[in-house]
Amino acid sequence: MDNSVKPSYASIPSSIERTVYRLALLSPTPVTFNGKLCLPEPPKNVTLGSSVFRKFVCDPSCDACCMILPGPITLDYIPSELQALPVRPEGEREFKPDIIVVNDREFEVFSTVKPLYGCPFLTVQKECGGKGCELWPNHPLECWAAYKIQIQKYKEGSIILKRPPSRAWRWTIPPKCTYPEVSPEEMTVELTSDLDILTRYLSWARYFEIPTILPRIIDLVGAMIYQPNPEIFRRPFIVDMNNPSVYRYTV
Ligand code: SF4
Ligand code: SF4
Repeated sequence: MDNSVKPSYASIPSSIERTVYRLALLSPTPVTFNGKLCLPEPPKNVTLGSSVFRKFVCDPSCDACCMILPGPITLDYIPSELQALPVRPEGEREFKPDIIVVNDREFEVFSTVKPLYGCPFLTVQKECGGKGCELWPNHPLECWAAYKIQIQKYKEGSIILKRPPSRAWRWTIPPKCTYPEVSPEEMTVELTSDLDILTRYLSWARYFEIPTILPRIIDLVGAMIYQPNPEIFRRPFIVDMNNPSVYRYTV
């Protein structure tokens, strides 16, 4: 690794740090980011919230989250993701190499900055009025997962859920995300898309060599795609971190 590469955006909140924190929420072992412990102790379990089994609808006329949140913040790719981009942005929009340290090991990442308002990649004019991301469908994981698959601390463990932006009342452009109930048939499409995000989280975990419970979660969600169980759609269930082969309903 080239140690002459220095973090370019040390003063900007890091999406990578947020993502590593979320991976720590799914890990049975302690995780550090740039020398700092992400959590006081590993979570004891992971709950798959019933909101996961609702549909996330991003209103095509809306671009509120790209316009407002969560800037200023870094937008980032791991190397394999950057290599997969059909066109690599250049100039001021270039994703520049950085080094971050996870669990005392150095890793190369590629970052650029989303300013407080707007985004340099929000350039595609949509027919319905809003603007779209020119990086789609290869947009950064932070953007893709934002209001579709969230991973948060929950009691003595963690929870995976879908939810709209917090503090949306402060946004000058109201977000239009909705989370309607879906039929078992529609659920297959929704869960397949969720699975893509969880699989991308897993690729980050593997790149940073963070052990996680994600393979088990992906197995469970994948099984539901082929055998959708309406009972599960209404009841959150919980996976024990140290015994992931077992899961149970929380209520
Ligand atoms: S705020 Fe919600 S509806 Fe609006 S663009 Fe973002 S995800 Fe879509
Ligand atoms: S990179 Fe794309 S998805 Fe992310 S904030 Fe910018 S325009 Fe939105």
